Amino acid sequence: MSEAPGQAAASPSTPASAPQRPAPPQVIRREDYCPPAFGIDRVELRFELDEDVSTVHATLALRRAPGAAAAAPLVLDGEGLVLRSVAIDGRTLGPEAYAQDAATLTIAAVPDVFELRTVVEIRPQDNTELTGLYRSSGNYCTQCEAEGFRRITFFLDRPDVMARYRVTLAADRTRYPVLLANGNRVAAGELPGGRHFATWDDPFPKPSYLFALVAGDLRCHAGEFTTASGRRVRLEIWVEPENIDRCEHALRSLQRAMLWDEQRFGREYDLDIYMIVAVSDFNMGAMENKGLNIFNAKYVLARPDTATDDDYEAIEKVIAHEYFHNWTGNRVTCRDWFQLTLKEGLTVFRDHWFSADMGSPAVTRIAEVLALRTAQFAEDSGPMAHPIRPESYVEMNNFYTATVYEKGSEVIGMLRTLLGDAGFRRGMDLYFERHDGQAVTCDDFRAALADANGRDLEQFGRWYSQVGTPVLRARTTHDPATGRFTLRLEQAPPLAAGAGREAAPLLHIPVAMGLLAPDGSSLPLQLVGEAAASPGETRVLELREQAQSFEFVGVQEAPAVSLLRGFSAPVELDYPRSDDELARLMGADPDAFARWDAGQELARRVLLRLCDDAVAGRELVIDERLVTACGRVLADPRLDGSLKALALTLPNERILGQHQTIVAVEGLHRARQFVVRALAEALQGPLRAIYSETAPRGPYAITQPEIDRRRLHNLALGYLAALGDDASVALAVAQFKDADNMSDSQEALACLIEVGGPVREAGLAEFHARWRGDALVLDKWFTLQAVSGHPDTLERVLALAHHPDFTLANPNRTRALLASFGLRNQFHFHDASGRGYQLLADKVCELDPHNPHVAARLVSAFNNWRRFDSGRQAAMHAQLQRIAGLPGLSRSTQEIVARALV
Ligand SMILES: [Zn+2]
Repeated sequence: MSEAPGQAAASPSTPASAPQRPAPPQVIRREDYCPPAFGIDRVELRFELDEDVSTVHATLALRRAPGAAAAAPLVLDGEGLVLRSVAIDGRTLGPEAYAQDAATLTIAAVPDVFELRTVVEIRPQDNTELTGLYRSSGNYCTQCEAEGFRRITFFLDRPDVMARYRVTLAADRTRYPVLLANGNRVAAGELPGGRHFATWDDPFPKPSYLFALVAGDLRCHAGEFTTASGRRVRLEIWVEPENIDRCEHALRSLQRAMLWDEQRFGREYDLDIYMIVAVSDFNMGAMENKGLNIFNAKYVLARPDTATDDDYEAIEKVIAHEYFHNWTGNRVTCRDWFQLTLKEGLTVFRDHWFSADMGSPAVTRIAEVLALRTAQFAEDSGPMAHPIRPESYVEMNNFYTATVYEKGSEVIGMLRTLLGDAGFRRGMDLYFERHDGQAVTCDDFRAALADANGRDLEQFGRWYSQVGTPVLRARTTHDPATGRFTLRLEQAPPLAAGAGREAAPLLHIPVAMGLLAPDGSSLPLQLVGEAAASPGETRVLELREQAQSFEFVGVQEAPAVSLLRGFSAPVELDYPRSDDELARLMGADPDAFARWDAGQELARRVLLRLCDDAVAGRELVIDERLVTACGRVLADPRLDGSLKALALTLPNERILGQHQTIVAVEGLHRARQFVVRALAEALQGPLRAIYSETAPRGPYAITQPEIDRRRLHNLALGYLAALGDDASVALAVAQFKDADNMSDSQEALACLIEVGGPVREAGLAEFHARWRGDALVLDKWFTLQAVSGHPDTLERVLALAHHPDFTLANPNRTRALLASFGLRNQFHFHDASGRGYQLLADKVCELDPHNPHVAARLVSAFNNWRRFDSGRQAAMHAQLQRIAGLPGLSRSTQEIVARALV
């Protein structure tokens, strides 16, 4: 599954302890895992889909697991199901033979091998939670991960119960001409009363969370792929009729992903057909159901006038992610939900690698680290801090988090760094060979990688239980007389309180590094006692002790140290180097990531100093070193447009706030606005030249050079528009009017929103009039206003919450306005009046009874409330308490709120 768009989730937890709760929800613990008492060999499902009540007939071939107690009852999961009948081996059971409560169906006496038949009724049209079987735009679809299948039929709804499924759908032919499920279609035909049916058979055993069905009026954009062994696979992208011209990019992305997984990992697709269905109402990004992916439409539909370059890249990445799950997740799945990172961390790692291979590795890496630092580091330092393999949870859906996904991917990345590409591939091959068709654990994965390489990864395994962001301390000494340079590395527990400071076990940390001479050239990397320097300009040091010293020889002049090249470990670096050393790295480091990172650190220091000045009421003066460094970047012919744009994008206010004990909300905003303007003034000449040099020269094309060009073009526009002079505003107005693509149009509108006044109103009105019938584009209209820094943003967001086009019923629209505001607009959300908090809390209360999963994600905007001043703390605390006291609050939201309040 892919995370929800544009935000990091919250997390799992220890016991909920809101005082208002008489009976805290049950806490599930990893250590309590027990194998299932029954296995299921075969599943036959028949769905009678109707407008009012839908009926699900289930036939399960069950057998008692070897070693399970002979008298153990059969306990099936089931929620919100109306039971019509239950039969064992053809004999209908009387009500005395079973017991049903809100979550289970228990049958006391069952044979060792038997057939269970149940008939239940459900009402998909009333399902606003969007898990299980529900309706979106009049079509039926499903979302079963993690525990949605139990809302469809009674079942052993856990990932370690894998079975073969045969599924028949029956529905009205006119309203639902398309009937899809997992696997291959084996039968179809007419039924009396204008109905029809289709039967699908999936030959691969799978856990219930990978079940899917779709019924609706959809159109297909088809293609095909021939596998390395010569099998032809039909590819189908299913969308609502009006979107049929927006599928080509998704199809091409799928074909590229299929080829890449064969070339990089030797993995072929296994069914005759691969289907993707786009739906408008979806809680997450997308879902990897076997052979029948169901996607948030945001990650399928693209046309140049409706999708930005970022959208195109995100679609390619998410399509690939779900495809890669066919091996890492579906063929080899998780034993239990605590192992979620086994499939998600690994698959995110694979989609990152794929994106790097398809586009620019440096740009891809920078974007990943930015996302990690913004969302995951924040999660790590707040009340929801948890290991990538959590120890407990109340509501599984709360733990599809940045930690499990993004940090989980970083952990796999460290394994690749330690084992090398070839060693990593050997380990993956062994993992698939050993575990194909099984439900396994993170330890099984690590054992395969260790065994295939003859490496000891015991200590490395501690990353799976480690909480918080570890600190890597670096100190250096240089002796010019002997030419010896010593790098002392030390690992320290996370800075955040309560993140396991005392009991932090020593980690195995790969540190990729290099040394630069004063002239910017790379120095040979030879340690004392080595006969020769290591090949290349980067080497990986392995830190396994609390502290280790590495002594390099042949270093005549004091070098600049480039540390954590490629961000080789998810740690916070504590290395007090001079601004000049940073400037040297920023100008010359051969590692593009490290260059960018040095620039970010330099900018961060400047911004934090200016923030202090702003808070103290001192005059703000721009640091000329930053201006010079930015000017050099703009003029550097070795950097492409995307890298320049990333280098010139200052750290966001949320990242800056993480470096303060108490977040200085106004000071940070003022400092950042000031620096943007000061850079725009100082670099006006080059920026204007770049803006005109990078003007479009032909029709829109989604190629890397063109993406690079547009990014630089729009970066220049953003800076110039910050000047607010007539000439610059005219550039934005003209670009908005002339743009033939959404990237240029959206960026121009964003500039006009910052400028404010009549140009903003005209731009917003025009954009709205043009796109009001297009939900995905209209989401952008909401988001651009929600993330704006313009002084009246809070007022506008409050008004937009009552806009006729705003609805809490659609997760994308909810996120477009409220999550964007609460999680991405630190300055205005944390307005001292507390009205931003009030709005978010009101909406959480309103949404929770209908869609607790999205409500729980929204409420996580309050997670870091203790990081703010006492007035803001009190205001956020009051809202959290109000939510905690809500009668009937969902388990999902309650878990997040209770953790925040502890
Ligand atoms: Zn996934």
